[in-house]
Amino acid sequence: MAGAASSGTQEQKKGKQQAPFYLVKCPDCSREQKVFSRPSTRITCVICGSELATPTGGLGKFRAEILRNPA
Ligand SMILES: [Zn+2]
Repeated sequence: MAGAASSGTQEQKKGKQQAPFYLVKCPDCSREQKVFSRPSTRITCVICGSELATPTGGLGKFRAEILRNPA
């Protein structure tokens, strides 16, 4: 068996890390919407303006119910 030399010339896509979006349900009007999992600003419901998530520096703190995590 011969040891295979690894070629380190494979191109990789870098710097395009996408954080997932959550599908959440507004606790007040039940409107479902997609929101960024790591919000940098407060996220409010598009219908009633109720607060859905607040930024924490990392993953947002969600007040709304998270229905699904579409990766
Ligand atoms: Zn709402």
